[in-house]
Amino acid sequence: MTLNLIDTHCHLDANAFQQDLTDVLQRAIEIGITRILSIGVSRSSSEAVLQLAAQHPIIAPVVGIHPNYALEAAPDDWDLIREMAQLPAVVAVGETGLDRYWKDVPIDIQQDFFRRHIALAREISKPFIVHCRDAEDDVIALLQEESGGGTSAGVMHSFCGSRRTAELCLEMGLHISFSGMLTYRRNDELRATAATVPLNRLLVETDAPYLAPQPQRGKRNEPAFTAMTNEVLAEIHGISAAEMAEQTTRNARELFLLS
Ligand SMILES: [Zn+2]
Repeated sequence: MTLNLIDTHCHLDANAFQQDLTDVLQRAIEIGITRILSIGVSRSSSEAVLQLAAQHPIIAPVVGIHPNYALEAAPDDWDLIREMAQLPAVVAVGETGLDRYWKDVPIDIQQDFFRRHIALAREISKPFIVHCRDAEDDVIALLQEESGGGTSAGVMHSFCGSRRTAELCLEMGLHISFSGMLTYRRNDELRATAATVPLNRLLVETDAPYLAPQPQRGKRNEPAFTAMTNEVLAEIHGISAAEMAEQTTRNARELFLLS
């Protein structure tokens, strides 16, 4: 059965896809993926993502500087990200956020870039995509400060936080995107949290080439595997995989204004 699905987060410019991207995209199309958001992590990665999108219409590009790449960004990289973000093809800004797992980039530099991405997204009326690793409280605090009690168009990507964090994100108007982590056996708590997220705020993603879902765990991930996460999310919400796919696809189309 083919589903109508959108992978809202992956990294198709990664070396892991250099050899066989056409086959990877073909497999995604075969299972019913209609769009794939490919996310930049640096200036050069954002440029690569734009190029890929120009070659493959299924790819929707997102440009930004990942917190782990914020230190190595050259002074004019941000100006170029700003320019790229305004291109009509670009559907969102990111990925941005905070990461306390890798200790290489001082947190104040990460916070500075996080704020810049949020401001840029607002300025150009596109959503932003948030990476959060071992930094839930800091991410929430910064988002709350920047939202000033209002709401924002954005995504907590590859969500693995607490139920409380999910609630606070939802209050700020954010969408919550689940990756293959939702399928891992030990992640009962994450599945319980996913059950509390309203249907109209759910998104699915792979974060490929990382985080392959359970049956493929440890191998290279690819957009076609979005179906596995979608299936688990459907089970959690007590609806069919086809219904969940329709729902998350509608959410993605509305949020990212996809054609
Ligand atoms: Zn990512």
